[in-house]
Amino acid sequence: MVKADAYGLGAEPVAKALRAAGCETFFVATLDEGIALRAVLGGGPEIAVFNGPLTGSAGEYPAHGLTPVLNDLGQVQAWRRANAPAMLHVDTGMSRLGMTARELALFTDDPIPLVGLVSHLACADAPEHPLNAVQLARFAAIKAQFPRLRASLSASSGIFLGRDYRHDLVRPGAALYGVNPCPGTPNPMRQVVTLKGKIVQVREIDRGESVGYGAAHVMPEPGRLAVVAVGYADGWLRAMSHRGSGAMAGRRVPLVGRVSMDLITFDVSALAPGQVRPGDTIELLGAGYGVDEAAADAGTIGYEILTALGARYHRIYR
Ligand SMILES: *Cc1c(COP(=O)(O)O)cnc(C)c1O
Repeated sequence: MVKADAYGLGAEPVAKALRAAGCETFFVATLDEGIALRAVLGGGPEIAVFNGPLTGSAGEYPAHGLTPVLNDLGQVQAWRRANAPAMLHVDTGMSRLGMTARELALFTDDPIPLVGLVSHLACADAPEHPLNAVQLARFAAIKAQFPRLRASLSASSGIFLGRDYRHDLVRPGAALYGVNPCPGTPNPMRQVVTLKGKIVQVREIDRGESVGYGAAHVMPEPGRLAVVAVGYADGWLRAMSHRGSGAMAGRRVPLVGRVSMDLITFDVSALAPGQVRPGDTIELLGAGYGVDEAAADAGTIGYEILTALGARYHRIYR
């Protein structure tokens, strides 16, 4: 799954790496993403587009060798004349995209050459949730009506619910990018994203002085601040204000004051003066402060931390 610019990490280099690793089927959310991805990957790999064809856009799919995911009878209708492959999305409990049971009863696949049957789990990150088994059973019943189609139910977390959930094809996104697919248990995936912010100024500050907009943080002791050139315009969410952390020289340093557009401030009083200099970097994501931890501090999920990463970062791919 490389939608949303591969979760903010760069669809082009990510898709090329996945392709080199043997990936043969890619999923994106929108037609534009599919067109851009086809240009990157060239002919060969299958690219399926989750949002599906609408009247007026259906012709774009064959033109770019894209496989639409058909989500309702309207999209089936928009696709009938194309006489080209499509996947069928059936809803088993998400009530988002996908055909309802009522629509499915009216559906005939003739003359559409279907190549896949997909559905999506609502609660896969909560293994105890009863909806998982309900969705699995509903999917099995629908699958029996389409025995020759490749079946795909699970994204990252569903893969970890067990073999029964894996069918013919899985659609991992977040797990590939290091987000823990099994919240509450140790992350089985490697932390693959490192984010560093550059220190533009280091300053000594007296007790009682305030930091940043709203004077919202007041120094309880004299200390030292590092001002880092990352802000909410870079996707370092404003909800991180007073809550986030960074890592430097093997230590946690707290983010103090509000996140502003281009800058954040860390209290680095615990580090020796020579350990913090302008031009040094503070790790904002990485081994010392993971994407899920950052998300918890910001009151969100790792997915949003990654997809929010802005355009001003210098990106290095290894
Ligand atoms: C986003 C998405 C995925 C990938 O989900 P992850 O949790 O990131 O692995 C798979 N399928 C559908 C339909 C999606 O919308």
